[in-house]
Amino acid sequence: MVDEGLVRTGYDEVALTSLSTADFSGIAQTVAGIVDGDTEGRLSVSLPSLRVDAFGVDIAAQVQKGRRTGLTFAPEAGTWRMRQVINKLIGEEDLYNAVDSAYSQGWRRVKLYFLTGLPTETDEDTLGIAAMAENCVAIGRRHLKNPSVTLSVGGFVPKPFTPFQWFGQNTEQELHRKIGLLRDALRGNRNVQFKWHDTRASVIEGTFSRGDRRLGAVIERAWRSGATFQEWSESFSFDTWTDALAAVGLGVEQYAYRHREEDECLPWDHIDAGLHKDFLWQDWTDALEEVGLPDCRWTPCYDCGACTGWGVEHVVASAVPPAGGSQGTGQDLGVGGVTPRVLAVPEVSAVPGATAVPVELGARL
Ligand code: SF4
Repeated sequence: MVDEGLVRTGYDEVALTSLSTADFSGIAQTVAGIVDGDTEGRLSVSLPSLRVDAFGVDIAAQVQKGRRTGLTFAPEAGTWRMRQVINKLIGEEDLYNAVDSAYSQGWRRVKLYFLTGLPTETDEDTLGIAAMAENCVAIGRRHLKNPSVTLSVGGFVPKPFTPFQWFGQNTEQELHRKIGLLRDALRGNRNVQFKWHDTRASVIEGTFSRGDRRLGAVIERAWRSGATFQEWSESFSFDTWTDALAAVGLGVEQYAYRHREEDECLPWDHIDAGLHKDFLWQDWTDALEEVGLPDCRWTPCYDCGACTGWGVEHVVASAVPPAGGSQGTGQDLGVGGVTPRVLAVPEVSAVPGATAVPVELGARL
């Protein structure tokens, strides 16, 4: 398909995009198949975000056969503890090996993508992001005089049908403070280009991500007030959205910042996305206990509901997990402790449905 598409269009760029290209276990063979057909070396292959545990010298060399574009790795969290919480079981060594492979094959710049505001995140976890970026620069210096790391950080927005659908998102002020921590930590390091997503946009995104039908009136009000092209940073107007919410007696506190209880009826409960709600709740409590769940492509099924109700099953290119582990290099995935964690709920204004007291989720585990 790629060969034919290139011949018919004259393009010389191929982007392997999907929601999770990095999870495709046959990615190395696919890239090799694409670049092998490029006898003139004009082709550029880009992978939006790469599995650090599967990215080695081999695949770096394959991609590098074509023109080199940016390489993006998405460790998503700055410490192993935090990655256990989000079940992104990638070891730091996996990232460093991948970055070393990239720089050794002549790449001058790598991009790293992280999230801040994750459940139970501490300042130590946030600052771990800066430390990883700086370590990547140090690794680059083994091969280059002036390696470059572009560090992108977004505010975490909980989504329906995920274990974090009960989590009260960090406030705009808290996200802003965490971005400030990273800016301070990276100040003076000219090899790290630090970019971050507008924290106010994350809060509005969070409001609508877990909104209910009452938000229809808010969208109409915002639009009538001139809110168009809101995805464009230069057009985005936080105040227009908060004003429209307030006009109908609503607020970001009840939608974005509020922790939900297990027995709360959620606005999307009547939609069947396959995943069982009790599985998600268990996954949420596991996350708070820092229990990592190995990738079900190489374990018995956990019956989360994603496949079982639809008669589909996994077909993997490799019978063994990459790099000897289920998602990473086989680190101990044991229980990370049962310390109760308090997810502090910010002070909120008196809006219907808002919770103003801290919720000790850990205590219910
Ligand atoms: S195999 Fe399918 S149903 Fe089983 S845990 Fe994995 S995604 Fe869920």
